[in-house]
Amino acid sequence: MLNVKAYAATSPTGPLAPTTIERRDVGPRDVLIEIRYAGICHSDIHTVRGEWGPVSYPLAPGHEIVGIVAEVGPEVTRHAVGDRVGVGCMVNSCRECDACRRGEEQYCANGMIGTYGAVDVDGTLTQGGYSTHVVVTEDFVVRVPEALPLDAAAPLLCAGITTYSPLRHWKAGPGRRVAVVGLGGLGHMAVKLARAMGAEVTVLSQSLKKRDDGLRLGADHYHATGDPGTFERLAGSFDLIVNTVSAGIDLDAYLSLLAVDGTLVNVGAPAEPLSLNVFSLLMARKSFAGSAIGGIRETQEMLDFCAEHGIGAEVEVIPAEKINEAYERVLASDVRYRFVIDVSTLN
Ligand SMILES: [Zn+2]
Ligand SMILES: [Zn+2]
Repeated sequence: MLNVKAYAATSPTGPLAPTTIERRDVGPRDVLIEIRYAGICHSDIHTVRGEWGPVSYPLAPGHEIVGIVAEVGPEVTRHAVGDRVGVGCMVNSCRECDACRRGEEQYCANGMIGTYGAVDVDGTLTQGGYSTHVVVTEDFVVRVPEALPLDAAAPLLCAGITTYSPLRHWKAGPGRRVAVVGLGGLGHMAVKLARAMGAEVTVLSQSLKKRDDGLRLGADHYHATGDPGTFERLAGSFDLIVNTVSAGIDLDAYLSLLAVDGTLVNVGAPAEPLSLNVFSLLMARKSFAGSAIGGIRETQEMLDFCAEHGIGAEVEVIPAEKINEAYERVLASDVRYRFVIDVSTLN
């Protein structure tokens, strides 16, 4: 076992605090990563506060991890000491079910193993990226291309792939009209990626407060959903709508914005069930869908795509001691657009 420094939650209500956690010894196919940066995802906050189910404490969250390979097991072939690498939302899966065989490990029939708060293959609890080191099986470690700065690359491992995967699946590209609902951590990545794929991009946000940002990030159009006239003016306008908002929305209103054969895909996860009128779907063969992160192969493809197009997240780098403050600011939507922890400040 390795004892490593971490920043962890010890209860659902208390602040996160410095501590040490255990990492397993480096196995034959494991990679030991010296973590440089870890992004703060809204999921981290939901999880450590027990809002998504009971949690074993202490728990170090963080599933937007980038760092440098410090050691590899004797059978490792994909990575070498000194490589720039990343780890996202999962650290293993069964590798045998249909989804795993297709390379869509995030949809593993036996449940993918989450980067933190999950039971690992050895029975221990996984611990996330708010720590100095992590040990991960090589198949769940991706390469971070040289062209990407490490801090701006960290959020790509969750926010990036979560938006890249549905944009690819529903064929965002030239001639396709894509709307992004919400301009936060996920939304700002969706705008950059859809633009780089060649789609015509519209941001649908509650107000016009972030309009200048949206246009700078690559949106062609920006509309306020708080203005009821918006829904009338934009009826039937989009081939794909990516909803990044976790709060409930009026599905029928958003479905009315789709053209024939259009799809509204949720990547945000509202706590309460949503309802819709089926007529909103059947009169123009529309679909309402969901999508979760992406497989390992697609995550690598996304990182390579971002390197090729010069895309990183817009980040605010913070020292570890500001994590609790950052959580409050995330909850107040006071971040443009992702907090990233400089893990060297844990030492
Ligand atoms: Zn996340
Ligand atoms: Zn599987």
